[in-house]
Amino acid sequence: MPKYVHRPLPIEAEQWFKDGDIPQDKNEPFCDGDNGVCEECQRPLNEHNWRDLTDGTDTLCPGDFVVTTPSGDRLRYSQKEFWDQYMLAPEEPSPV
Ligand SMILES: [Zn+2]
Repeated sequence: MPKYVHRPLPIEAEQWFKDGDIPQDKNEPFCDGDNGVCEECQRPLNEHNWRDLTDGTDTLCPGDFVVTTPSGDRLRYSQKEFWDQYMLAPEEPSPV
């Protein structure tokens, strides 16, 4: 039986490192537990950020991606999750 693969579906994604990296989002610096350390990335919590994402308010670690799906959902991906699933889209061929 022949096998098929899903056609690539381009998505938009932006990588967050610090406030201002994702301009359309309001910046909400992480205020709770300023002296704490993130369980995921071991960096200080005050280097993190809140984002109001589709799956609920979530914490962004520096380097995380925010993916906008074709249906408009906004989802958080760690760098590993992102690069396991996505690669840079090839340039569209120029119409000229
Ligand atoms: Zn973190």
